[in-house]
Amino acid sequence: MSKINKNQRIFLEEKFGNRVNFRKLERKLYGHDIAAMPGLIKPIIGSTVPEAVVQPESEEELVELVRWAARNNIPLTPRGKASSGYGGVLPVKNGVVVDFYRLKKIKNVDAEALTTMVQAGVVWERLDKELMKQGVTLRLYPSSYPAATVGGWLAQGGAGIGSYEAGWFKDNVVGARVVLPDGEVKDFRGEELELIADAEGITGLISEVTVRIQPKEELDVIAIGCPDADDLQKMMESIIDKELPIWSIVFINPRMAELKNKAPLLEHFEHPVEERVLLPASYIMTLAFRKKDGEAVMAGLDEVMKPCQGEILSERIAEHEWENRFKIMIVKRLGPSLVPAEVVIPLNNLGKVMNEIENKVAQPVVKEGVIIREGAGGKPEVVILGFIPSDQRKFNYNFVFGLSLTIMKIAEKYGGRAYATGLYFTKMVDKVLGNEKVTRLKAFKQKIDPRSLLNPGKVLDGGLTGIFMSLARIFEPLIRPLGNRVMTQLGERPDKPVRDIPADVAWYAYGCSQCGYCIDECDQFYGRGWESQSPRGKWYWLREYMEGREEWDQFMVDTILVCTTCELCNLRCSASLPIEPAWMKLRGLLIDEEKRMTFPPFEMMAASLTKEGDIWAAYRQNRSDWFPEEFWEKHGPTHKAKIAYFAGCTASHVETDIPIAAVRLLDAAGVDFTYAAQKENCCGTPMLVCGKWDVFSETMKKNIAAIREVGADTVVTSCPACDMMWRQIYPRWAERLGIEYGITGKHYSEVITDQIKDGKFKFPDTGKKIKVTLHDSCHIGRVSNVYDAPRDFIKAIPGVELVEMEHNRERAHCCGSVLTLIKEPPVAADIGKARMDEAVATGAEKILALCPCCQFQFRVTAEKKGLDIETIDMARFGAETMGFTLPDPKPEVQKQWAVFEAMIALMTPEGFAELMGTMWPELIDAMPFRMGPMMRFMGKIPGALNLMKPLFPVLFPRLLPMMMPKVMPVMLQRVGERIPMPDYMKEQMPELMPKVMDNLMPHMIGDVVPLVTRPMIDYLKKGK
Ligand SMILES: Cc1cc2nc3c(=O)[nH]c(=O)nc-3n(C[C@H](O)[C@H](O)[C@H](O)COP(=O)(O)OP(=O)(O)OC[C@H]3O[C@@H](n4cnc5c(N)ncnc54)[C@H](O)[C@@H]3O)c2cc1C
Ligand code: SF4
Ligand code: SF4
Repeated sequence: MSKINKNQRIFLEEKFGNRVNFRKLERKLYGHDIAAMPGLIKPIIGSTVPEAVVQPESEEELVELVRWAARNNIPLTPRGKASSGYGGVLPVKNGVVVDFYRLKKIKNVDAEALTTMVQAGVVWERLDKELMKQGVTLRLYPSSYPAATVGGWLAQGGAGIGSYEAGWFKDNVVGARVVLPDGEVKDFRGEELELIADAEGITGLISEVTVRIQPKEELDVIAIGCPDADDLQKMMESIIDKELPIWSIVFINPRMAELKNKAPLLEHFEHPVEERVLLPASYIMTLAFRKKDGEAVMAGLDEVMKPCQGEILSERIAEHEWENRFKIMIVKRLGPSLVPAEVVIPLNNLGKVMNEIENKVAQPVVKEGVIIREGAGGKPEVVILGFIPSDQRKFNYNFVFGLSLTIMKIAEKYGGRAYATGLYFTKMVDKVLGNEKVTRLKAFKQKIDPRSLLNPGKVLDGGLTGIFMSLARIFEPLIRPLGNRVMTQLGERPDKPVRDIPADVAWYAYGCSQCGYCIDECDQFYGRGWESQSPRGKWYWLREYMEGREEWDQFMVDTILVCTTCELCNLRCSASLPIEPAWMKLRGLLIDEEKRMTFPPFEMMAASLTKEGDIWAAYRQNRSDWFPEEFWEKHGPTHKAKIAYFAGCTASHVETDIPIAAVRLLDAAGVDFTYAAQKENCCGTPMLVCGKWDVFSETMKKNIAAIREVGADTVVTSCPACDMMWRQIYPRWAERLGIEYGITGKHYSEVITDQIKDGKFKFPDTGKKIKVTLHDSCHIGRVSNVYDAPRDFIKAIPGVELVEMEHNRERAHCCGSVLTLIKEPPVAADIGKARMDEAVATGAEKILALCPCCQFQFRVTAEKKGLDIETIDMARFGAETMGFTLPDPKPEVQKQWAVFEAMIALMTPEGFAELMGTMWPELIDAMPFRMGPMMRFMGKIPGALNLMKPLFPVLFPRLLPMMMPKVMPVMLQRVGERIPMPDYMKEQMPELMPKVMDNLMPHMIGDVVPLVTRPMIDYLKKGK
């Protein structure tokens, strides 16, 4: 076991900066793969927590890293997306995990030679998208396409979708650049690739891979049902005999069909949002072929199916199976764990293997199979991915796990083998990889890495784990009856909270397959790049917490809070888990119930909201200053109407062009509306997402009352967050709190486009031509499915060309605003830039946006990152074409951001410590019980204050509440000097600040004391 010493640590820090991580929690998250190891095996494997995780971003860095590791005898374990389950990514000798996340450039696409050269960390889905832009596509891909990396598949070995035609992945690789253990970079091609493929990184770190690709062609898909495994085999053999031009064949067994029928549907606000497609309880093959081959395939299939009792299933089933080809893990939620058993068998024994598994394994084995027309030795092979639903939290999981060995032995009996070696099947390496390959691998490994520093304990040398697994194989006949006797329950059955985690969230934590589909497009993750910031990491942490190996700390509370609530993960999840709603529940638990600390600036917003109804510390009386003078009579609060326009507080106080433009448009479009003016409050979104649910519910009640007062039953908003409240959140909360609601939420774009459709409104033709793009806001897009209305609005303006960003509509990326902007402004700017770069790539002149917060974020980002594209509110854009002049929001945004940024910096332990450093005389004088003079006296006695040091963490939290009222005047003065506040804000600080300090200090004082102890002692010693 290696141990990284101080100098080695310094080297890594200097070399990799913020791309190396030593945090214990983070290291833990990089020490596992998708498999849930049974408790009996864990002690044999030992700790798999690495001592550091590094993320190189170039081949040169890989070279330096392996040279350093060789000099210092440090083991290195490569890691793609850890979507494998054979233990290959487990750092069993600790050392350093090499995460390929940042090595993801697509270096070249040669559409003529039909090859592409990529860095090893590129994810299949992203690569394929890029290829398709150039009219080409992948020849094959794993069904973990949304997560797995190219290098990971080459190192792990495998077959997948498209393998029927294209074979095993390694046969589709032209070459690979590999960093060998001595730092040499070698190009592997042809036969030599055998030393890298399926070797799981023990022979080198794959840096680049050149892969064969194919022209992109339209595909057709059909599904065929067939009653038993023998017929399934016959049908496959006949398809091969007849040389039907099929590209991909995958199948599922009846158990899988049954479980898919029971699997939870994708939900939105706890309601299913997809239709259930019922599958027949049969073997279901999904065949994909090029459209141009359709006739030949269909003609041949007729003959193939008849003798095998096959029947073509409905188009809906075919489409459903194809669309969901990456979502096999959906059945995991019924377990909530799955015991995996993956084998490769010759096609001519498929029936026998399947039948014997059914006979010998009494547990429900769900299977998915991939057919390879020309497998090992040119013969057809089948990869069977088997899973047994089970519950890893129970001891009997160990026995069910034993059944995977039963399946393995059955496969071997019929000429099959385990799918891979990894950590567990090293003693079967000859069978898995073949004697000849193993001999070559061993010789090569001995030559280049005699100390076994690269991925030790895998493939060739499994140590204790390999021996244990061999023994378990011997005892398989004894374990089998125990495994078979376990009563397996199927279906989601959350019953009670685990520790304090709500029952459903606890179940989902185990239901998560750890597949990694949710990672790359989660902005919380890509803004930071570390696993703890991804849904997968959070679920894993929750398991650790529920099993008592982790405790909540501020880092983890912040990790739950800082998710932007974009909801993209819900759509990406292979198990359709309601991920974002789970984090929302945890916000309530952590902040509302357990009263932990939310992000400090929210305390200021809460105080302001409670006092004046807005989060900007502006006066309520100024809330409606933006409202056009001439509208007061026609649309003001005294005018009763069924529609009320709701401006929200950011638009009312900061970006006032938004509400002005919106009401001008509504008026011009002939909409009869009213406005609650100063009775309106912030919609409450900031309070909901920061967990201050008491403030949220009070605010909601006030808003509902205000709308009732103006006689409306429909609220029209400009801001997507306000829209989310009125349309989705208020009705649910109102029901929960027993408040009558009966209000409908609508966006102005819907109202205006309705008027356009009805011929009641039209934008004038200004003769100007302009190209724009639209940023879909998460809170109206994924939350309420409003995608068409804003597009129809833009398209209705003559001369405007709308171009889409790469990620649009339900796949649109988040702007990176509120929670991230408040917690980590530099990260928010990175996320914002990623989104704005997409906009720039469209060639558009302007980004049109709906949300005041997205616009605020883009403006701040543009300023910070020097981006030259203008963000403009969509209503403003429309209103300007009609000749309305509107105020420029940019100066106010800059002014407010300056305040916010300084406030964010102040409200940190460091910020408060610095502030206290400017007020020692007042702080010491304010100490109660005449402690001030005593402290001054102690300062004069050498060493006395140092002796008192251990008392400070106990004393300060007790003293500070008593000192606060006395030091508040000077504190306000110092805060005023630091933060460029407008007068109205300054005026309110004496009322707001004490509330903020009361709420914050109990949480923060523990972190502040160590920072102020030394400066205070120094001050007292000087005896001033
Ligand atoms: C839902 C789901 C579906 C799946 N479908 C398939 C399928 O259809 N076919 C299939 O074969 N597998 C499948 N798998 C398994 C897995 O996704 C594949 O093995 C995948 O190729 C692993 O890629 P990865 O990037 O996650 O690699 P990892 O799991 O991170 O690594 C796999 C192995 O390769 C090594 N490694 C990773 N990167 C490098 C590198 N750059 N240099 C050297 N060594 C490296 C690791 O140390 C490890 O030993 C599936 C998994 C899931 C969860
Ligand atoms: S809601 Fe968005 S930011 Fe939050 S975890 Fe999901 S993808 Fe990440
Ligand atoms: S949350 Fe969903 S997508 Fe993410 S790792 Fe878990 S199962 Fe996979």
